[in-house]
Amino acid sequence: MIFLDSAGSSLPPSEVLDEMVGHLRREAEVGGYRAAAEREDDLERAYPVFAELLGCAPEEVAFTDSATRSWLTLVDSIPLEPGDRVLISEAEYGANAVALLRLAELTGARVELIPSDEIGQLDVAALRDLLDERVKLVSLVHVPTNGGLVNPVREVTEAAHEAGALVLLDACQSAGQLPVHAADLGVDLISGTGRKWLRGPRGTGFLVVRRAVADRLRPRLFDHSGADWAGLWEYRMRQDARLHELWEFGVAERLGLLKAAEYALELGMDQIAAQVGERAEHLRTGLAGIPGVTVHDLGERPSGIVTFTVDGLPPERVKDLLWDKDVVVSVTSEGSTRFDMGRRGLSAMVRASPHYFVTRAQLDEFLTVVTGLR
Ligand SMILES: *Cc1c(COP(=O)(O)O)cnc(C)c1O
Repeated sequence: MIFLDSAGSSLPPSEVLDEMVGHLRREAEVGGYRAAAEREDDLERAYPVFAELLGCAPEEVAFTDSATRSWLTLVDSIPLEPGDRVLISEAEYGANAVALLRLAELTGARVELIPSDEIGQLDVAALRDLLDERVKLVSLVHVPTNGGLVNPVREVTEAAHEAGALVLLDACQSAGQLPVHAADLGVDLISGTGRKWLRGPRGTGFLVVRRAVADRLRPRLFDHSGADWAGLWEYRMRQDARLHELWEFGVAERLGLLKAAEYALELGMDQIAAQVGERAEHLRTGLAGIPGVTVHDLGERPSGIVTFTVDGLPPERVKDLLWDKDVVVSVTSEGSTRFDMGRRGLSAMVRASPHYFVTRAQLDEFLTVVTGLR
């Protein structure tokens, strides 16, 4: 099997799988509450571990059931009034875009597009022109789901902060692939998932709320773990990011996610980034040399996501043909990134995302298989 879909849902290390299966067995033996109690220290350790992974403090981390849940929770906590503005980039992810359209409808805020520059990444100069005191949020996708580039985060946060706007970083495709350091990048809010480059389980996500901006949020709904039911008619909200968590969660998945993060930290995020970058570059160069294949990646700084099309074969068909040969890729289509795909006149592309565990021989075999497709 040649596995090239870490941007979709990656393969877990055996440590992650064993941890999850082990916990499910323990739950079947002693019940979920006691099984969780036995792992209380590990569940608590997840916060400092993710703080290390994401360059923030443990109190700034919370866990959810997906990147989208994290993103929705954060965005819904930002007070928006009629006339307020929210800026998004052309790489904005479908789930986020739909949610913002709804929020705009409910609040009277306006959603506006930051154009891309000529190499396809967010245009920081254009952003500066758009910013004013009505901009409450700049939503930035670190690595677009449909490939190619890494957006210039620090430049965006500097500009946005001068105008007083919050910056929410969608780190769904960057966490586990590249170092994502909240403090270095200067972002206020982060959302991310477990199942992609972190090699964690499905149904897991995380978020970051930097302490300095926590009191600018107005979370609307929380439960009795996010807030203490202090008296019959009173509640007291938690002061840390765990305000955004619900009491119930999949403990096996959380433990698997923790193992995945520890695994990545042990390998080192710089090492991982270098290895992924090398593999993606090999694929890009190789694919570009195959007659009838077009590579569509943009940007100044390439990511680990490689997108391409094959003349005469719809991307879904390419994916199916490759799956038949035990080569796993995915298809990225316009419903996920309408602004970017629309601008480029693309409806779908094949997406190959090689993690560090893919060997050079497998990459070369993949290139041979693609050459044979036509
Ligand atoms: C996959 C993806 C998401 C959504 O993640 P889920 O875990 O499916 O909610 C958000 N943003 C980007 C850029 C993605 O690629």
